[in-house]
Amino acid sequence: MLIKCFKLSKGLLFALIAILLIISIIYFFIFCRQNISLEKNSISVDNSVLEETAVSSNLSNSTEENYIKWFEFNVSYEVLQKTSQLDINSHTTNKNVKYNWIELISYLACLYGNNFSKFKIKDLDNLVAKLDSGKSIDEITRDMKNYHYYYEGYSAVLSQYIGNFGISETPINNADNSNTQKSISYVQKYDLKAFHPLAQNYSYSHYKDFGNSRSYGYNRLHLGNDLMGSIGTPVIAVESGYVEAIGWNQYGGWRIGIRSFDKKRYYYYAHLRKGHPFVNDIYEGKIVQAGDVIGYLGMTGYSTKEDTNNINIPHLHFGIQLIFNEVQKDGPNQIWIDVYNLVDFLKKNRSTAIITNTKTKDYERKYEIIDPYVPD
Ligand SMILES: [Zn+2]
Repeated sequence: MLIKCFKLSKGLLFALIAILLIISIIYFFIFCRQNISLEKNSISVDNSVLEETAVSSNLSNSTEENYIKWFEFNVSYEVLQKTSQLDINSHTTNKNVKYNWIELISYLACLYGNNFSKFKIKDLDNLVAKLDSGKSIDEITRDMKNYHYYYEGYSAVLSQYIGNFGISETPINNADNSNTQKSISYVQKYDLKAFHPLAQNYSYSHYKDFGNSRSYGYNRLHLGNDLMGSIGTPVIAVESGYVEAIGWNQYGGWRIGIRSFDKKRYYYYAHLRKGHPFVNDIYEGKIVQAGDVIGYLGMTGYSTKEDTNNINIPHLHFGIQLIFNEVQKDGPNQIWIDVYNLVDFLKKNRSTAIITNTKTKDYERKYEIIDPYVPD
């Protein structure tokens, strides 16, 4: 009886071991495969933008991993200038074929592997000729495997820079709020609607300083563009959005962070003026319009103590972070773009600021914009 029982349980035991073995083999197989694909993913993210795109497009659309993890804004001033003119002119002259500058830029990015120093005007002329002949951008770019990646990336930067808006023909503010016109007339436009980060008639200088090394606190890279100017120069909201962060930050000093309504861009304005960094009535959550005065250039920062001037040269630090997925906002793999060419490009659209309160020495914009992008 005992032997019989032992025999039976021995058989059972073998069966159990066999089942366990099969389960662990299956589990091991699945786990290994997942690890390999994850490794592949992270290697390609680090090494090459192109491989990253290929990996992303291989991933199923239903996975949350399918977002852009790296993007470089490399468009030259010349290409920004030429493509925006094509876009704006085709709309304002009501041409049959209307161009979208982001599509033009994304096509060129494919052609040059995102290296715009290779730009030749004949490439843009050829594309325009094809579009004029009635071909759609989808047909033209059908075999360009990275087109959608570039289109998504460049849209994330530029989608709100050109479009329809209204602008007041007469000033909405006058000095010390006297003589403010009661009835303001607006003109409708299709044009550049993003503004330069410093107000009209204030001089500044800047150079290509993206990626330079910085050593305060810890060794890191400079992820923006410094605009050297006079203390008190009104700082302007480049794009409409809402104030996401405002106050003191050890590195940026007095700083404002503004998020675009589509949540893809985070504008960072830092080192604002000691004592009076921000305009009156600005707070976290407030909606600002492109061209609004938000604060004043200064030299605060590099200190844990609030309101400390520890920056040697007065300047505005201006940066743009791209966010394709919220995990990128404060995580270790943030995407900050080189805004030098953009700042140059925006020189043609500077908001005029005038002092409206001589007691508080606060400035406001002179002309109002009605941006349809701003929610009611
Ligand atoms: Zn800086």
